[in-house]
Amino acid sequence: MRTIELNKRQEHILQIVKDNGPITGEQIAEQLNLTRATLRPDLAILTMAGYLDARPRVGYFYTGKTGTQLLTENLKKIHVKDYQSIPVVVHENVSVYDAICTMFLEDVGTLFVVDERTHLVGVLSRKDLLRASIGMQELTTLPVNIIMTRMPNITVCEREDLLIDVAKSLIEKQIDAVPVVKSVQGDLEVIGRITKTNVTKAFVALAEEDL
Ligand code: ADP
Repeated sequence: MRTIELNKRQEHILQIVKDNGPITGEQIAEQLNLTRATLRPDLAILTMAGYLDARPRVGYFYTGKTGTQLLTENLKKIHVKDYQSIPVVVHENVSVYDAICTMFLEDVGTLFVVDERTHLVGVLSRKDLLRASIGMQELTTLPVNIIMTRMPNITVCEREDLLIDVAKSLIEKQIDAVPVVKSVQGDLEVIGRITKTNVTKAFVALAEEDL
C-alpha cells in the first residue's frame, strides 16, 4: 500500500467511487466515457495505494483512509532489514589511532567494537575519538576499549524491528547510529547498522513511493 499523489483522472475516479460505490469498473468507465481497459492502470494504482478496495462481483468501494493513515500504515511496513547497511567493526584492542584511520578509510561516523569472539562490546563515535585526541594521549598505544561506550549501555536493534522505532531511539538517545544485532546464546553479534542516513533514505523513498 502506498501514499501517492493522484492525477486528475484518479481523483475523478475516487470521487465517483465515493459517491456511488460499490461500483464496477465498467460503470466507472461509462461515467467517464472511457473504456474499461483505459481505466485499468488507474484502478490498479488506486487499489494498490489503499484508497480503493475491490470485491469480485461487487465492485470498487472507497476505503475511507486518509493520506495520513496510509502514510502511517506504510511506515509500519518498513523494517530495519529493508534499509540496514554493512557494519564497520574494530577489535577492542586496536589503538585509537587505528580506529581513526578505519573511520576515515571506511567513510563511516560510528564504529562498533567487538571482542575476540566477534561479540559486540562497545561503540565509538567521531566525538569519542576526537575527545581522546584532544586529551593528547598516546593514540597509537591507547586501546579503544578505554574510551568507547560499552555494553550494557549500547542501544541496539534487530532486523525485524520497525525502522520508525529505531529512528525514535536515535532521537531520544541523541546518537547517530545503532548496530543491528543477532542474539547468539546471550551474546550479541553485529550484523548491520542503521544510521541517520538510512532513515533519511527510507523517508525519501516513502515520499517517492519507492518502497
Ligand atoms: P557524535 O557524538 O560523534 O556526533 P553520536 O551522537 O552517535 O556521535 O554519539 C554520542 C555518544 O553516544 C558517544 O559517546 C557514543 O559513544 C555514544 N553512542 C553512539 N552510538 C551509540 C549506541 N548505539 N548506543 C549507545 N551509545 C552510543
